[in-house]
Amino acid sequence: MSTPTPVVLVLEDEREIRHFVRSSLEAEGWQVHEAGTVKQGLVEAGTRRPDLIIADLGLPDGDGVDFIREVRTWSAVPIIVLSARTHEDEKVAALDAGADDFITKPFGINELLARTRASLRRMRVGKAPAEAVFRFGDVELDLAARIVKKRGVEVHLTPIEYRLLGVLVANAGRVLTHPYLLREVWGPGHSQSTHYLRVYMGNLRQKLEDDSAQPRHIVTETGVGYRLLAD
Ligand code: CA
Repeated sequence: MSTPTPVVLVLEDEREIRHFVRSSLEAEGWQVHEAGTVKQGLVEAGTRRPDLIIADLGLPDGDGVDFIREVRTWSAVPIIVLSARTHEDEKVAALDAGADDFITKPFGINELLARTRASLRRMRVGKAPAEAVFRFGDVELDLAARIVKKRGVEVHLTPIEYRLLGVLVANAGRVLTHPYLLREVWGPGHSQSTHYLRVYMGNLRQKLEDDSAQPRHIVTETGVGYRLLAD
């Protein structure tokens, strides 16, 4: 059975970048639609129903963050931000508006392609029947039985550690901001308590990573949050 051609919308006002991204993605088998303004982006997103959106933030008729917020009112499509904004607050704003990932300009095309492949995999996994067992590295998480194993040996997690791992797994591949993780795991009253996160992420790494000082799966996005890399 062949998989349908994935469709991507590239929202970017700089023509050269747009065309560069377009030809790179077409070479990888994507069908590409383009938009250069927020307004056009919303029309294209609504009519083309893309499997992925790559969006710039600085656009001539508005802010890409508003575009993301608008799209999120009706769609869960993965959104990768491609922006020259490097401030951590700006990344957090885009991610909290509903972006899945953030790539800073100037960017390498290989990085962009790797991220698009990751979101395509997530999309296909999301459409498959729910998996009872989630794996990353040599870690196995049995979601139904709430059992975590590393190299076949059961690992004991505290309830908070388990909940934190659950949020990471449910959003594997996505960058999750500190406020998001704190809200999901500890509740709305703790959105500033980033030191909790550091402590519990440290515990999870100790228990699940081969080398907790150089984590391969539970990775830090400096100043922004964390991401679970499943492969
Ligand atoms: Ca721009």
